[in-house]
Amino acid sequence: MNKWGCLSFILLLVVAYKVVQPVALGGQELHDASNQARSRSYKTMIRVEKEQVYQGYLLLVNKDYPVHRQGVSTDVVKLSKHGYLVDGYLLHDDSIQLSEKVAKAFLDMVHAAIGDDVNHFLINSGYRSFEEQNKLYKQMGSDYALPAGNSEHNLGLSLDIGSTLKKMEQAPEGKWLKENAWKYGFVLRYPEDKVDITRIQYEPWHYRYVGLPHSAIMQESQFTLEEYLDYLNEVKEMTTTFEGGSYVISYYPVSENVTIQVPNNRKYVISGDNREGIIVTVFP
Ligand SMILES: [Zn+2]
Repeated sequence: MNKWGCLSFILLLVVAYKVVQPVALGGQELHDASNQARSRSYKTMIRVEKEQVYQGYLLLVNKDYPVHRQGVSTDVVKLSKHGYLVDGYLLHDDSIQLSEKVAKAFLDMVHAAIGDDVNHFLINSGYRSFEEQNKLYKQMGSDYALPAGNSEHNLGLSLDIGSTLKKMEQAPEGKWLKENAWKYGFVLRYPEDKVDITRIQYEPWHYRYVGLPHSAIMQESQFTLEEYLDYLNEVKEMTTTFEGGSYVISYYPVSENVTIQVPNNRKYVISGDNREGIIVTVFP
């Protein structure tokens, strides 16, 4: 190769590197680079139905945004009937239900904690049907429970985790979860310093499954789900790296059925935000 050929080759390498380089949060220049990469590899057009806004792992549920029937997890199981899901921790009672996928993630998390000698976990509450939530609301009152349809427990993606040693604020289980739950797709949904945003008192026991890489981003930026969804809505697209893999996360408003581009050779997951859009997460 002559001198100019060699220079062109190096230039080509630099351009290629910029196009495929993983991007940190934001970053206009790198954001553009990722758009170029996307237009080259995203070939398949798919139709997204308005219904999908109300389904998935990133649904925001609070006093303003109730659970839609189609948002309830379709894999809810009674944990006591699936012995392999209850290994290394206790259930408050045999009636506790949860999404099977979330229960598996919880199991992985508990086993990791046991490896750190933190091993007194208890599930106090999981999935609640609208009827159960209504009963709880009537018993506990509006200061302590949410009306039917306005609780994350109605999704099957949230659980109240306890310790058999002491209250979660003081228990090693509470401390361990605060530091590590994000690695397993969970977030502490109602942190002490975000009450003004969540409008729910600090609940050191209430964890919500959102899945990776979202829990990692939320942990790093100290986002509540409200803040994270607002952020995605604002930036429309971001790329993040987790365990060496590059994820592209895109937000699309969906006021009616729309058509979007997805990659034809990479795994992707679509979740609604339960408000007015969907989030497409493309895996490495
Ligand atoms: Zn709860």
